[in-house]
Amino acid sequence: MRILLSNDDGCIAPGLVCLRDQLRRHHEVTVVAPDRNRSGASNSLTLSKPVRVQEHADGTMCVDGTPTDCVHLALTGMLDTPFDMVVSGINCGSNLGDDTLYSGTVAAAMEGRFLGYSAVAVSCCSPAPEHYETSARVAERIVERLRTHPLAENVILNVNVPDVPFEALAGYEVTRLGNRHRAEPVIPTTDPRGRPIWWIGAAGSGGDAGPGTDFHAITQNRVSITPLLVDLTRYAAMESVSVWARNLT
Ligand code: MN
Repeated sequence: MRILLSNDDGCIAPGLVCLRDQLRRHHEVTVVAPDRNRSGASNSLTLSKPVRVQEHADGTMCVDGTPTDCVHLALTGMLDTPFDMVVSGINCGSNLGDDTLYSGTVAAAMEGRFLGYSAVAVSCCSPAPEHYETSARVAERIVERLRTHPLAENVILNVNVPDVPFEALAGYEVTRLGNRHRAEPVIPTTDPRGRPIWWIGAAGSGGDAGPGTDFHAITQNRVSITPLLVDLTRYAAMESVSVWARNLT
C-alpha cells in the first residue's frame, strides 16, 4: 500500500523513524511530518502564514506547521502520490481518553479519514519509551489486517501500545475512551528577566478507567484499539435541547 506517515513529535522523532522502517518492509511509505515537536497541536491548521516544506536527503518532508497541516498538504495537492492510508506515530506517550482531544497524533490520522482505508494513530504508553519496536510491530499487523480485511466503515483507530517487549503483550482489546480527572493546575514561574510565565500542568490521572476503557486495557498489558468518530453531535441530547430551545425567541 501507499502509506502517508506523519506524527506530532517531529520528523526526527525516534518513534516515527522506527515505524517508518517497519512499514517500509512491505509498503511504500512517504513521511510528511512537523519540523519540530508539535504535541498538543490537536486539529489546528496554519492559516495565518504560508507553510514551508524542507525535503531531507532520505525523502522525509519536514513541514513548519502542525500535524494536520502535514497531512492536509500531502493529500490536497503538494504530492502527486495517491495514498491508500494515513498512519500517525509512534507517539512518545499515551493518547488515552480526553488526550485524543489535544493530540496531534490522533489529529494527523483524523485528517486522513477520507482515504480508502481506516486511519491509524499509534502511541507508545510511556513518557520515555524503551520498546518502540513493539508498537511498530503492532502497527504493521493492524495495517496488514486493514489491507486484507478493510473495515466496512472507515474509522479512525486510536491504538495505544504498552511499552513492553512484544512477547509480553497480552493481546488486543477493542475499547471505548475513558476519561481523565481534571488536569493538574497551571504552574506559575518567572523567566530569567523576572517576567511571569506559566507552564500548562500535567494531565489528570485516569478518572473513568474501569474495564472496557482504553486506560484499563493498558494496565492489563493489552493493546488498546478504540474506533473514533469525528461527529461530535450529542444525539442523546437533541430532544431535550430542542425543548429547551423552544422559547429562546
Ligand atoms: Mn506527541
